[in-house]
Amino acid sequence: MLSNKIRITVRPQKLARYSEKHARFYRKYAIAVFRTLRKPLFQKFLNWMMKRENIEEHMVTNVQVMAFPFRKKNGKGLAGKRNLKGEIFIYPKRLDFCRKLIRNCGKEKVYSYIKNRARATLIHELLHVKHLGDEGKVRELTRKYFYNFVRHQNTENSKSLHNYENVAHAVKTFYFAF
Ligand SMILES: [Zn+2]
Repeated sequence: MLSNKIRITVRPQKLARYSEKHARFYRKYAIAVFRTLRKPLFQKFLNWMMKRENIEEHMVTNVQVMAFPFRKKNGKGLAGKRNLKGEIFIYPKRLDFCRKLIRNCGKEKVYSYIKNRARATLIHELLHVKHLGDEGKVRELTRKYFYNFVRHQNTENSKSLHNYENVAHAVKTFYFAF
């Protein structure tokens, strides 16, 4: 099971750079992502997707939910990446960004955005395992599979329209974040 390969990674040298308040926020964030990605319904979906795409589980060494954001040289954030050892890294959005979003959209929406962003990132990085550097193809498939998951999830719990709007927004912002 992929769920056994998911863990939270805290880099001590990064931890030292953050205030206690920031560290507390990112700890909560990482735990929320960790739980979301391990949820049985999502795991079942990933298994189905990996079978369909011929992605074998042994190609993924582990999935690391990173406690702190990654900033590229151009100042932009990064949602996820993977390396040649088959490790997948999922990064959080920055605290400032989340704060602004909470002010504009409310806590509940931001929480669901955070969860959907993490799901979409993992789907995206898993698809890279198969389609390597073909970013266009991976994005197209991420969108397809992500909507698939959301539709399925919505038949299981009935708050469909509300969720669907959230997710549409999350997908848009997710790609914006690249
Ligand atoms: Zn990509």
